Order: sequence, then C-alpha cells, then structure tokens
Amino acid sequence: MLLFKIAGIQKTTLLDYPTKVAAIVFTQGCNFRCGYCHNPELLDLNKDTDFLIKDFIDFLKTRQGKLDGVVISGGEPTLQSGLYDFIKEVKQLDFAVKLDTNGTNPKILEKLLDKQLIDYVAMDIKAPLERYSKIVGSNVNINNIKTSIDLIINGSVDYEFRTTVLKSQLEFEDFDKIGQLIDGAKLYYLQKFVPNKIYDKSLSLDKTYSDEEFQEICYNLKKYIKTVSYR
Ligand code: SF4
Repeated sequence: MLLFKIAGIQKTTLLDYPTKVAAIVFTQGCNFRCGYCHNPELLDLNKDTDFLIKDFIDFLKTRQGKLDGVVISGGEPTLQSGLYDFIKEVKQLDFAVKLDTNGTNPKILEKLLDKQLIDYVAMDIKAPLERYSKIVGSNVNINNIKTSIDLIINGSVDYEFRTTVLKSQLEFEDFDKIGQLIDGAKLYYLQKFVPNKIYDKSLSLDKTYSDEEFQEICYNLKKYIKTVSYR
C-alpha cells in the first residue's frame, strides 16, 4: 500500500508559499536529524498519524477559489511512497503545489518536475558538502543532494534554496562553499536560527549571526546567486 502519512495541517498561511494563500500539509517522518529542527515530533517515520488523505482532499474542495495553493512540508515529504498520487489529486483540484524538501530523493523530484506536478520547490542546503552528514545527524548521499540542486537550477519551476544558520555550525567561509555549490541559482535565503522547540536541546543556547553579519554574508554570496536575502 502506498504511504502518505499526514501528521498535521495548517488551514491557511500567507507566509509559506510566496505570493500565494495556501494550506500546509505536514508529513510524518524524516531521514535527517538536524539539531535545530523545529518539528521533532515529525521525525519518526514509523509513528502513526490520525489525519486521512480523504479528509484533507474534502477540506480542499471547500477551499476552491479561496486558497491558491498547498505547501507539502514535513518531515521529508519525499519519504512518502504515496507522494506522487497525493499531489496528482491536489493538482486535479487546481491548486498550485509547493514542495519543501531536503533534496535526498532526486528521482522523485525529477518525476514530479517532469510531470509538471509541482509549481515551486524550496530545498534546504544544510552545509558545505563535506560537513553535511555531521550537521544533519545522518549519513547523506552527497550525490543525491548535488543531483537535486542541478535538477532545480536547470528546471523550469520556480524555486528557492535556504539554509538555517547557527554560528556554531557555519563559519563565514562555509557560505562561500555553499555559494559555489548552488552557483547560478536565482534565489537563496539564509534563515536565522531560533532556539524554539528544537530536536537537540543542547543547541538551545546557540546563536545566529547579527544583521550586519548577515548583510555581509549576503553581499559576498551575490557573486554566485542572483538574489540572496536573510529572514
Ligand atoms: S529540519 Fe532537518 S530533521 Fe527537521 S524536517 Fe527538516 S530535514 Fe528533517
């Protein structure tokens, strides 16, 4: 049976899908264990969930003409074997779809892009490649990350890359390595670490950079990326 575990939904957001009013579906399970993860309850793929796909689709039917899109977030949505079929159902109702992903499953990403089933992709860039596994607390196939980046940059779907920034994890020169990794990208956001409800509580006293430091990092990255900002 195809798996699509919905851990929760948010009925409306103005913030998570650029220029659109959307609903969010949070999927259960992630193959990373980022210390700063704000959704630690979503990480265990084996955990049972209560939400039924049918209930969400029924909810969407009541929002046609009121919402523009659906954000599929997590957890890591591409772990769900039923992701493709779920998105097809959402698209049949004429909603735009944004996928949030950590980029570990380029095969599914490629299929979704090829079939024009997603309209926006937000991919996390966790670290320079040589420190990826350490920062996400899991063994990472770096080639999959690189392939996902290439698919996104060379594809025709709108996108953003983004990185959550802790001072203890990323030094100034790391951002240059990340810039090289996504060289040619059109949009990249640095996200301030907020020590709220995080997976690794030992990071709760950790800091992010100051606004002045973020401005300098953004300025330095503009040689690789068209638009760089922090939030
Ligand atoms: S922040 Fe890391 S651990 Fe949390 S959902 Fe995203 S990829 Fe998974």
